[in-house]
Amino acid sequence: MSTPADASPGSPPGLRVSVDLNLCQAYAQCCFAAPQHFRIEGHEALFYDPAPAAQHRDDIERARVACPVQAIRVEDSGRGA
Ligand code: SF4
Repeated sequence: MSTPADASPGSPPGLRVSVDLNLCQAYAQCCFAAPQHFRIEGHEALFYDPAPAAQHRDDIERARVACPVQAIRVEDSGRGA
């Protein structure tokens, strides 16, 4: 897990996840939906995997839908994922 970053050109196909931290209210619904990809540390610090493998799409999608403020954006990495 880390803060947002672009997938490197040599990385395998996957997803690109970003969270609008101006919208995020640290409700942690994403953490319950996909705990292996999102976590809250401290009071309000959200950490997440910015480039999960495509096989985790269902988990990531569940987290995206669970977010009450639609702060999570999910895109394909552009390499056939
Ligand atoms: S569910 Fe949405 S608002 Fe809550 S911590 Fe996750 S991204 Fe932030």
